[in-house]
Amino acid sequence: MTNSGDSQTKRNITEIIVHYTATPEGEEFSNEQIKASHLARGFSDIGYHYVIGLDGEVRAGRSESIAGAHCTGHNTCSIGVCYVGGCPARSVENWKNIGIDTRTDEQKAALIKLLKELKKKYPGATIHGHNEFANKPCPGFNAKEEYHNI
Ligand SMILES: [Zn+2]
Repeated sequence: MTNSGDSQTKRNITEIIVHYTATPEGEEFSNEQIKASHLARGFSDIGYHYVIGLDGEVRAGRSESIAGAHCTGHNTCSIGVCYVGGCPARSVENWKNIGIDTRTDEQKAALIKLLKELKKKYPGATIHGHNEFANKPCPGFNAKEEYHNI
């Protein structure tokens, strides 16, 4: 796995928050594309610390030592993890407004591995889905429930 910079942060990490990219199922979405969309929204860089591609590749985003831009009110104390997907295929009418769980088996495995590593690094942190803190379906499943044993 690629590490975000020298990775250990002085920030007090109390939450690990899981997201989706809100892109169509089955379509890859690069960190460059995410960064471009985040810059367009006025962020200084890609908002997430890690992105998980369709094939389960864990890509480093923003350094863990820097607060992310992924969850209003929670950025200073959290690590943002995002899998590519979260919307139905482009052929589905209104796909952009539908949030579902589109994780591939590879993404599911990579998420568990990454979350375990982060929990080891930040034992006091709890795992959450964006939907616990915002009125949106992201990440399309109940992350708190699914990962409560990690
Ligand atoms: Zn989100």
